[in-house]
Amino acid sequence: MSGYKIALIKGDGIGPEIIDEAVKVLDAVASCEGFELKYQEVLMGGCAYDITGDPLPQETIDVSLNADAVLFGAIGGQKWDTLPREKRPESGLLRFRKELGVFANLRPAVVYDELVNASSLKPEIVKGVDLMVVRELIGGIYFGEPKGREGNERAYNTMVYTREEIVRIAHKAFQIAMERDKRVCSVDKANVLDVSQLWRDTVEEIAKEYPEVTLSHMYVDNAAMQLIRDPKQFDVILTGNIFGDILSDEASMLSGSIGLLPSASVGNKIGVYEPIHGSAPDIAGQGIANPIATIASASMMLRFALGETKAADRIDAAIKQALAEGYRTKDLAQFDAKEICSTSEMGSIIANYAAKCKH
Ligand code: NAD
Repeated sequence: MSGYKIALIKGDGIGPEIIDEAVKVLDAVASCEGFELKYQEVLMGGCAYDITGDPLPQETIDVSLNADAVLFGAIGGQKWDTLPREKRPESGLLRFRKELGVFANLRPAVVYDELVNASSLKPEIVKGVDLMVVRELIGGIYFGEPKGREGNERAYNTMVYTREEIVRIAHKAFQIAMERDKRVCSVDKANVLDVSQLWRDTVEEIAKEYPEVTLSHMYVDNAAMQLIRDPKQFDVILTGNIFGDILSDEASMLSGSIGLLPSASVGNKIGVYEPIHGSAPDIAGQGIANPIATIASASMMLRFALGETKAADRIDAAIKQALAEGYRTKDLAQFDAKEICSTSEMGSIIANYAAKCKH
């Protein structure tokens, strides 16, 4: 029986609740498909700071680098917002991504047919949306130097990309497009920013290696508008760190809830699989968080990191079945719900369907 080592990072807020449900579903499909998952839980975020004084203890990096994949919940919360920046949960997460070299964040935004009424947009606009945001994750303005604050008068960050950083994320986007509808829209702000002009020139150059893929360019302000006006025009959106952060949250609302969207952060080593949402402190501990984004992230982990395609197919089918049967967590309660479920009930329903499903 094959076995895989999974580093499990639950984090803060709703993190532990949603990860527990993903593990429930993973265990169900692993036993059906005849493989074993061995979890090692490590700390990150506010909970890590409270126990060790560091939001990213070295053990977390070591265990993760030694695993086959990392399954991650979410970090952060008001309790830690007044700490010096390097002690904050978010700094731990940024450092973690850098240490693991996960330069590409893949964020699929798919609108489930069962939830076309859940979007704030008209059903005919969102039905059939299936796009992928490929976001550069360890460069750009979140990491650029110099940065700093001079009292209450002035503060600055630097948006910087090297050619090498653009080349590797561009290759990733074109490779993904080759598996999809062969269209890449690169989003930048080349009309204003030098860094964006380098981005655009470099993406143009890499595109020549993928003659089957159609490349277009769009300014980020227009992209934000087009995503709402006609989201089906997009296949793969390739963009930098901050633009991708914002556009993928916007794309999540096409699907109806941020609690639905998974992501994979990959590089040349180990991949991190995590929902796109944060730790949702406003609903933590109430058993109402939607676990589907995390369960779908676990499915991406099986598919991309472990090659367990059948198990991943089981999970994807089970999520669809649960939604088709009218099971909804509170965030989706008003949309064709037959039954409102808690976080844990939704996890159990999906685990049951995943174990039964035939493929
Ligand atoms: P958030 O994504 O945590 O929450 C935004 C809104 O969406 C909230 O109303 C929340 O209740 C809701 N929501 C989020 N996930 C949900 C789910 N699974 N089911 C139902 N509703 C859900 O963003 P925020 O409020 O801006 O940030 C809260 C904390 O999370 C902050 O400390 C922030 O820094 C952190 N954060 C962490 C990550 C991460 O760990 N990757 C990402 C974004 C934000």
